[in-house]
Amino acid sequence: QTPSRFHITDALQIKNIYRPRKPFSHKGTFGHALLIAGSEGKMGAAVLSAKACLRTGVGLLSCHIPGCGYDIIQISSPGAMCFIDEQKDHSSSFHTHIPNAEAAAKYKTIGIGPGLGTAAGTCWAFEKLLEHFHQPMVIDADALNILGSSPAMLDKIPPGSLLTPHPKEFERLFGKTANDVERLELLSANAVKRKLNILLKGRYTAMAFPDGSIWFNTTGNPGMATGGSGDVLTGILTSLLAQGYTPREAMLMGVWLHGLSGDHAAAERSEEAMIAEDIVEFLGKSFLELR
Ligand code: AMP
Ligand code: MG
Repeated sequence: QTPSRFHITDALQIKNIYRPRKPFSHKGTFGHALLIAGSEGKMGAAVLSAKACLRTGVGLLSCHIPGCGYDIIQISSPGAMCFIDEQKDHSSSFHTHIPNAEAAAKYKTIGIGPGLGTAAGTCWAFEKLLEHFHQPMVIDADALNILGSSPAMLDKIPPGSLLTPHPKEFERLFGKTANDVERLELLSANAVKRKLNILLKGRYTAMAFPDGSIWFNTTGNPGMATGGSGDVLTGILTSLLAQGYTPREAMLMGVWLHGLSGDHAAAERSEEAMIAEDIVEFLGKSFLELR
């Protein structure tokens, strides 16, 4: 009998992925991540991702944001370093951080998309970025929307990258499906064909891997159906990749931690009152449970 492609995550499995910090480690041990996020009116998405990335244990975080976001990031996330774009209201020059292959080595990974917008200059810079950055990265939100309108760019995403669409973004990326079964097949087929780790957000987030397996996450609650929840997930995943977890480990563990932190937030503050920041705040409690 062939083993099933379908699996569900559980606490024991995530505990086996989790690696406690060694006493003599330093910030270089935990990687340098570059987060490219935010535009005018959507700087909150960048803030939520940055905070989640720091709270998940990244060694160093640099954020590339448009001019209007400088004070916002520096004040809200003092642990992060900050580059400002030549544009005030959106970003169009972030590709300049990775001008060649040597420069790409400075960053262990890149998280791109939350609140980014889809201005022409942003699309162009994303395409340029992909010319020299070939390590697995995290692609979310507007970065996915950009890929959805440019199949040629989708083909250039580094293998092993993590894509994190919600159902609408998924549809823009890969097209319409008639039902959930077809959608899962399309999810998995793209993960296999493109060698990508692609999740589909929902009550039980489905995670599809290049080996054809599909995992369903079991943590999380409807309190997380609130603006900014997904931006938090992007920060978590970027942080785990930067720390050297494999893309598969990062996805399984990151999605678990995100949902579990949402569950802690709901238990203490209610599903109604909890907001995306609360998911970030309860990450610590979730990490303590993995020990
Ligand atoms: P986004 O739509 O990008 O903000 O992402 C929303 C996040 O919240 C995803 O990680 C979802 O899996 C999670 N989420 C939203 N609604 C629920 C729900 N009813 N149950 C569990 N998780 C949810
Ligand atoms: Mg989102």
